[in-house]
Amino acid sequence: MFQHKFISGDAFSDSLGKIVCVGRNYAAHAKELGNEVPKSPLLFIKPATSAVPFDTRIVIPKNQGSVHHEVEIALLIGKPASNIEEKDAWECVTAVGVALDLTLRDVQDKLKEKGQPWEMAKAFDGACPLTNWVPLEKIRDKNSIQVRLENNSEMKQDGYSDQMITSIPKLISYISQFFTLQPGDVVLTGTPAGVGPLESGDVLKTTLDACYEFSGKVL
Ligand code: ZN
Repeated sequence: MFQHKFISGDAFSDSLGKIVCVGRNYAAHAKELGNEVPKSPLLFIKPATSAVPFDTRIVIPKNQGSVHHEVEIALLIGKPASNIEEKDAWECVTAVGVALDLTLRDVQDKLKEKGQPWEMAKAFDGACPLTNWVPLEKIRDKNSIQVRLENNSEMKQDGYSDQMITSIPKLISYISQFFTLQPGDVVLTGTPAGVGPLESGDVLKTTLDACYEFSGKVL
């Protein structure tokens, strides 16, 4: 079972319940996959069983076509949030980290064609590698958080939270109208452009807020 940990090594008191995700939250990424930018946030959920530690357990499914990395700023919820207002949204966030929203892209394309839900492409075991958490007060400017992903030393994705179509406070407020967020839940905030396939043996490095680095290897 996944256990939240801070960069200090300390564990977080609450266990992971659910991971609420948003699709197409950066215009350049929607465009690279040929998707329209949605008028309101496109939400989906990954179960707790999809979470694995980024540094030790990135495993990609075999024989299911291409597995894409989508690097995303992740938020650890520390206070219950239901119908929360935008101005109060940051109070519910305890820490910031990085997630990979791993996506079986060929499977997803087939599901999309048929108008079916995306779970098989996005909610499988191991579909959400998560880094250790950086306490929110250590983030320099929470309105402009940078996230980057390098694969085998090549820069693949590089984005800032101020490029999001729906900002973090708006997103939390919107999500909380549908799903109560509870301590230990995680919110994924969408991926910048540059998604691409992963292979076994790939060496990944992700950087959060320009100074927190996390390394992982695809098994
Ligand atoms: Zn995503």
